[in-house]
Amino acid sequence: MLQNSKNLIRDKLYSFLRTASSISVIDHVSHFAKASVLEAQKSELLATLRAKGISNDAVLRAMSAVRREDFVPEILMPRAYENVALPIGFGQTISQPFTVAYMTELLAPTRTDTVLEIGTGSGYQTAVLAAMSIRALYTIECVKELYEETRARFATLGVPATTRFGDGSLGWIDAAPFDGIIVTAGSPDVPEGLAHQLAVGGRMIIPVGSQREQTIYRITREHAGTGAEAFRAEEFHGFRFVPLIGKAAWRQ
Ligand code: SAH
Repeated sequence: MLQNSKNLIRDKLYSFLRTASSISVIDHVSHFAKASVLEAQKSELLATLRAKGISNDAVLRAMSAVRREDFVPEILMPRAYENVALPIGFGQTISQPFTVAYMTELLAPTRTDTVLEIGTGSGYQTAVLAAMSIRALYTIECVKELYEETRARFATLGVPATTRFGDGSLGWIDAAPFDGIIVTAGSPDVPEGLAHQLAVGGRMIIPVGSQREQTIYRITREHAGTGAEAFRAEEFHGFRFVPLIGKAAWRQ
């Protein structure tokens, strides 16, 4: 009798273990299947970026190295490699991959550059810049919850950026001058104080326009002076960004 109930317990245990291990096998298989679908979609996205004119190899390598699925809400992971902006909460979006690649190509950061990003958001653009091994990277976000969430994400993923919560339209005086400033939200104008935080030879990439449509400007500081003649402006058309909110930007 005792032997029978021992056998019964043993059989139940075995059957439980079999079920548990087959569930974890299915989990593993579906994890790998999902990962390989995402990899294939990433290759397609990179081909699209090339076809749309992105040609800087360092930028394409960085876009390939960063896993965009790590920067979107879990429910949107299957859509991580669509060439579209996606919602990240708090009324904000992760920028469209083409826009990230385009702005990074305009900035053309080198390994000796110190770069400031305004509008950390999900941290995707920050991670793409970090993958280019620049000397130092600073990023500012004005939505507290996003700032906290993304700071934690950087710690988990090991993204080497110095983060700050605050109004980026005023720049980051203590860390200036910058070889590059990249503004990832649309501004009504080029904040003058921000331009003055550029080093000579430094570039600022900033979308400027109405709240509906913006032109991306590349402002290059050619001289040490602070007058308009110290800066050269180039324009690139047809982009849309969420608004830059701040003392030197749109008021909310
Ligand atoms: N680079 C981000 C894009 C996020 S959208 C990404 O890849 O996900 C732009 C971000 O700019 C939003 O998170 C918004 O909250 C932030 N923002 C708007 N005005 C700002 C300001 N004055 N200072 C700092 N961040 C600002």
